[in-house]
Amino acid sequence: MAKNYYDILGVSRDASESEIKKAYRKLAHQYHPDKKGGDEDRFKEINEAYQVLSDSQKRAQYDQFGQTFGSGAGGSGGGFEGFDGFDFNRGFDFGGADSGMFGDIFSDFFTASRGSREPIGSDIAVDLEIDFLEMAKGTKKELDLYKKVICSDCQGTGAENQATDKCGKCDGKGRVTQATRTILGNFNQVITCPTCHGRGQIPKKKCAGCGGDGVRRDYQKVNIEIPAGIEDGQVIKLTGGGEAPKTGHGKSGDLYITIRVKRHKNFSRKGMDVLSDHEISFSQAALGDKVSVETIDGPVKIKIPAGIQAGEALKIKNRGIIRGGYFRRGDHLVNIKLKTPQNLSRAQKKLIESLKEEGL
Ligand SMILES: [Zn+2]
Ligand SMILES: [Zn+2]
Repeated sequence: MAKNYYDILGVSRDASESEIKKAYRKLAHQYHPDKKGGDEDRFKEINEAYQVLSDSQKRAQYDQFGQTFGSGAGGSGGGFEGFDGFDFNRGFDFGGADSGMFGDIFSDFFTASRGSREPIGSDIAVDLEIDFLEMAKGTKKELDLYKKVICSDCQGTGAENQATDKCGKCDGKGRVTQATRTILGNFNQVITCPTCHGRGQIPKKKCAGCGGDGVRRDYQKVNIEIPAGIEDGQVIKLTGGGEAPKTGHGKSGDLYITIRVKRHKNFSRKGMDVLSDHEISFSQAALGDKVSVETIDGPVKIKIPAGIQAGEALKIKNRGIIRGGYFRRGDHLVNIKLKTPQNLSRAQKKLIESLKEEGL
């Protein structure tokens, strides 16, 4: 089970949007790493919780599955590659916790830098098709992705035998500080060292495997766990599952997997319930019967009550879709259809005629 975002923000599960926003501002203000008594891990956690709970769609997914999904392939952030985070000047005043304007700018900053001060690789978006049964019970999949990965010959250093010299420009730090004036005041913008691309080291001799880039294109296996009950079109985000940053130094991008659920010839779903049709004869409907019905767990015997009408549904409890994070399941609903007899034999016709005479 993932983290409890409600506990992180200290709000109840039915908290309103404004309560969540208020709690977030207060905590983000309190724990910002550049503030006295700040806590970077806590700050990241608070931000993560807010990203989910402030988005009604993500919040609904989180409530249902107890975990997060990405915001969709549209969130592909290739444009952020190479973006460097900002360092707030020490002592910079955040403004009051209720300063609306600052709150918005503040969250924009955070989104843009994604809480990172390192270069970020491109995101990757892929589609993945699964069967209805895999959807109903949850499944694990292995993807083989062709993407930029850290060069295994040089471990991302770009240097043959990993032999390097310290970069003179940044003195091995990988970053250099640049003062920038903005309408909000002076910021020290920390940028990736242009000489060593953030590595802090310069190869003595370039690695032959990657030409000194530290990254190269290769196949990489990715294992994904798909929670039961996932909807067709829903997106799973694997943080860091995207492409390696282009110089091999920094963070990998994210991987967004859009799940496509294949249609099943017998089953469909409604919420957490599985639906199927079952055809019975007129005499079974009138007299009742015991029949075998296919469920996602295999055949189950059910009783057809005498006098059932076409279109009635019979419920088989706990044979529906498994709910992620909870040990509860939906039900299987059998939609009863009536089969009208065709191509009657002479004897059958006679019997039905006598039924008609009896008013049936
Ligand atoms: Zn290499
Ligand atoms: Zn450097």
